[in-house]
Amino acid sequence: MHSSDQTPQTTDQAPINWTNMILFTVTPALAVTLVPAYGWIYGFDAFEWAMFAVMMVFCGMSITAGYHRLWSHKTYEAHASVRFLFALGGAFALQNDVLNWASDHRRHHQHVDNNDNDPYSAGRGFWFSHIGWILRHYDSAQNDFSNVKDLQRDPIVMWQHRNYLALVLIMNIGLPAFIGFLHGDIIAGLLLGGLLRLVLSQHATYFINSLAHMWGTRPYSDNSSARDNTLLALITYGEGYHNYHHTFQWDYRNGIRWWHFDPTKWLIRSLERVGLASGLKRCAPDKIERAKLERQFQLATEKCERLAVEGDWQSRLETEYEALLHTVQQWAEHRQAWYEAKGKELQEHLSHLEKQQLKAHYLEFKYKLKLQKQRWQIVVRTLASPEPGVA
Ligand SMILES: [Zn+2]
Ligand SMILES: [Zn+2]
Repeated sequence: MHSSDQTPQTTDQAPINWTNMILFTVTPALAVTLVPAYGWIYGFDAFEWAMFAVMMVFCGMSITAGYHRLWSHKTYEAHASVRFLFALGGAFALQNDVLNWASDHRRHHQHVDNNDNDPYSAGRGFWFSHIGWILRHYDSAQNDFSNVKDLQRDPIVMWQHRNYLALVLIMNIGLPAFIGFLHGDIIAGLLLGGLLRLVLSQHATYFINSLAHMWGTRPYSDNSSARDNTLLALITYGEGYHNYHHTFQWDYRNGIRWWHFDPTKWLIRSLERVGLASGLKRCAPDKIERAKLERQFQLATEKCERLAVEGDWQSRLETEYEALLHTVQQWAEHRQAWYEAKGKELQEHLSHLEKQQLKAHYLEFKYKLKLQKQRWQIVVRTLASPEPGVA
């Protein structure tokens, strides 16, 4: 499948991948000219726009819920019918087959920001990580599938791999043309459902490799360039919480709070409700709390050092931090006890009173943790302000 080049190449010398170069320059050029021109002359109706929207979501979620969270990271298991639809949607999105995509993506996580081994390292700039890495045969993007052996056992993955080109043509040309034909306008079907949908859905997901490694905050870890960015989450079906994702990559969620915009998480959860997904993995909340606190501690220390804050800020910060970690530990233990008590197997052996006591203890520590976190925020803010002592 791949051309393996013997000689090492620098960024400029890598030979052009002509298929991709033509595809990824011609399709956007046609999309920005033909779509408005046809719309101006003949117009698009509500049905055609609805078809476009449904197809956008189908492509996008096949990549985020399928290629990414299911196959690359194995954050849950999905029924064959769901995997089949994701395989179709991935070919529709024209983002290569599952094997290639997941192999690239696992290397991205393993060697993140390493310009020689991360296939879309953001360290090589916005353009390279967005789309440039696809346009040439870079050594950093050579796959041998050694890291996707588990996926080679999935018959649907292998079926898609063998029939990728046919699926691409059926989904990108056949399907929009057929729907257009049924609706009475084949060209409109091809322009909105084929062309415009393809270009927009591709760039939306490319932003995860480019912008999500450049623009946003790093609340969980600074081990990689990955950033959390709510705005990006809005156009990437929830993948904008990329700092969390790179810190806890086997969590099926990217946006962990209920108000975080993560439609991919909602889809996976809905699939679980109807019995089409199982084994959803999530990181323990105390682990997440600890990662966040460690990061805040690190940032506060750096800020105090940078501002050359006087006084005994270091021991105060450390004391507060240790106390908070202790409370996190207690909260986690009581939380676990309460959740276990709620579990079916224990229910018969516990009296109502015992259950109420466990619940009360958990709520008590939850409240204690909340207060102590507020106190910690004040300490961090006060110490790291240019004039310590002024809150
Ligand atoms: Zn990932
Ligand atoms: Zn990333």
